[in-house]
Amino acid sequence: MLSSTDVRILVLDDDPDDTLLIADAIEDISETSHAVTVTHTAEDARRHLQSDCFDIILCDYRLGVIDGTEFITEIRQNGSDVPVILLTGRNDRSADQAALAAGATDFICKANLSPEVIDRAIRYAIANAERQRLINAVLSSLNAAVCVRDASQQPFLWNPAFASLAETFAPDVDTPAAIAHLCDEVSNKQNVQTIADRIQDKTIADLNDGRSVIALHDVTEHVHAIQERRRAETKAAHLTRHCSLTGLPNRSAFAERISQEIESAAKRGSEFYLLNLNLKRFKEVNDVFGHQMGDELLQQVARRLRTCCPDDVFLARIGGDEFAVIQAKRAGAGVTPALAHTIADAIDEGFLLQGKVVHVAISLGAAVFPEHGKTAQELLSNADMAMYRSKSDPSSVIHAYNSELDQVVRERRLLANELKKAVEQEEVEVHFQPKARVADGEITGFEALARWKHAHHGFISPSIFVPIAEENGLIEKIGHQVLRRSCQYAVDWPKPVIVSVNISGMQIRQTDFVSMVHSILLETGLAATRLELEVTESVLIDDFAIALKMLRGIKSLGVSLAMDDFGTGYSSLSSLVTFPFDKLKIDRSFVMDLENKQQLSAIVRAIIGMGKNLGLSIIAEGVEKPSHVEFLAKEQCDQMQGFLIGKPVSNDTVIEMLKSPRPCVLYSTEPARSIVA
Ligand code: C2E
Ligand code: MG
Ligand code: MG
Repeated sequence: MLSSTDVRILVLDDDPDDTLLIADAIEDISETSHAVTVTHTAEDARRHLQSDCFDIILCDYRLGVIDGTEFITEIRQNGSDVPVILLTGRNDRSADQAALAAGATDFICKANLSPEVIDRAIRYAIANAERQRLINAVLSSLNAAVCVRDASQQPFLWNPAFASLAETFAPDVDTPAAIAHLCDEVSNKQNVQTIADRIQDKTIADLNDGRSVIALHDVTEHVHAIQERRRAETKAAHLTRHCSLTGLPNRSAFAERISQEIESAAKRGSEFYLLNLNLKRFKEVNDVFGHQMGDELLQQVARRLRTCCPDDVFLARIGGDEFAVIQAKRAGAGVTPALAHTIADAIDEGFLLQGKVVHVAISLGAAVFPEHGKTAQELLSNADMAMYRSKSDPSSVIHAYNSELDQVVRERRLLANELKKAVEQEEVEVHFQPKARVADGEITGFEALARWKHAHHGFISPSIFVPIAEENGLIEKIGHQVLRRSCQYAVDWPKPVIVSVNISGMQIRQTDFVSMVHSILLETGLAATRLELEVTESVLIDDFAIALKMLRGIKSLGVSLAMDDFGTGYSSLSSLVTFPFDKLKIDRSFVMDLENKQQLSAIVRAIIGMGKNLGLSIIAEGVEKPSHVEFLAKEQCDQMQGFLIGKPVSNDTVIEMLKSPRPCVLYSTEPARSIVA
């Protein structure tokens, strides 16, 4: 802060006597050494102001050409904030007021001029100027744009931020006009408003004397951050309720929606359908073509479902390959809506995936609220049950819930869950059924047959649990365990006979099937020539190209192949010719009834003849009676298998049988060797 002892003073007075008077008075101020510059014209004073610095100006009120108030206005416009004390020849109240209005710091009558008076005026003026500078510095340092208005709403004090905002807001007018304009703009509008592309939060403080302070806070970044956060929150909320792959509402959105539907339908006394949709061959597409194609398929399915569903239908993806539909039901309409058929037809058309047409059927279960369930859980589980039913029914893809199938399906599902646990704990065992040469009854090998001993139900036939395992994909694990265990056992058998393992169609479609078989052989050390895989023909029909590739791969390992259950299903000669089979197994249904039905012996004879012509080895299943053996021997069938030869037994029994010092003859047509062990 300046001390009053070294003040630089510019004196402007057109009267030389008065100038002397003023200079003398200043000089007589005790204990000071003020530097005084005397000028007589405004022109002269301007020049000094341009080249020198002054702490205060003492200016005559009447300067001749212009008066002191005009001089003050002029230097203020030029940016100077040097305090000015006006000096006047006589005490004039109106001149006093004019001086104050022009921004003079003080107004002194020359008649009263004394060193004491001028000293006090100089000190007060400098102190005030200092205070003003401080206020200005504070105002300038504020982040806010601030403007003070007088009682007549005219702006009289503002900071640079306010001026620059006003200039941007009203670029076509001068700064004071722009400031006035901005004050008007902000005073009557809402708290937050956009001014010159920036978002401003406004506060107006009333000073209780008519004056007011307008403060504008630039909250643009803050508002943008909030908007960005809201956008992110909305997006996150969307993601938590929608499936990112298909864009459809997800399981949690579905759960919410079905609760709402139940509430409003219960209030109105109306009904609605719940459809549960499941893609039948999705897992295969994933396994065979890869996950990318699987994803692509799901997207296409979702698009097609969307096209099928009218606007008032709610569609969601509630699981991997599971979709759900909620549709209002008209009173008196049936238990399955027309939409179910539209959807089934649309999905049935096939999908073009990377240039390939892929067919995936749909299983569709329908349930009606409130008839088939009054709670979301009940309704869902019943629609699911109906869907599950259609999964295992090749005759119809659409099923509506009905309470009779409830129990059957429930038991099947329970069994499926228990099977899953049994497979995880490797509880599915393997038994072996002997195969023998027809000519002399010698054991040629054993067929591995999966065995599941259920804690309550006892032994459950593979004819029951294998189809269940095929439905839920468990068959791959079971197949792997059976194959591995069979090879492990067979490698330690006392005689190097063949071990035959049944292979499901689902396994054949596993892309790594061949390498899986290869690595089991390497791991167990079983020679490939001792392994035979049994495959049913239906497997080959389902996916010709894939099956052919896999079977060729298996053959190339040195493993042999048998076509199982020949004569049932689609049996065709072309499969035998196309696929690299070594052996043909005549289904037990032909053999078991041989003596009762004349035509059967003709069929078996024809199959044996045809197979032999194709260079295949022939084995007959279901040999239960000596007469069967006699017939097969006469027809020169190579091998036989059936309860007469031996029932499926444990591995320990297999070892016992193979260890027997007698030739492993179990049954022979020749009486001398007709020994049943
Ligand atoms: P399959 O491959 O045709 O197996 C022969 C079935 O016929 C076995 O039934 C066997 O016990 C039965 N059998 C054998 N000789 C006679 C007989 O003289 N008379 C009668 N009535 N039946 C006889 P099982 O063990 O119940 O197996 C049924 C089917 O389950 C098998 O038919 C096979 O297709 C499937 N299977 C069994 N184990 C496995 C496995 O590990 N993997 C796969 N994928 N399927 C398996
Ligand atoms: Mg078999
Ligand atoms: Mg069979």
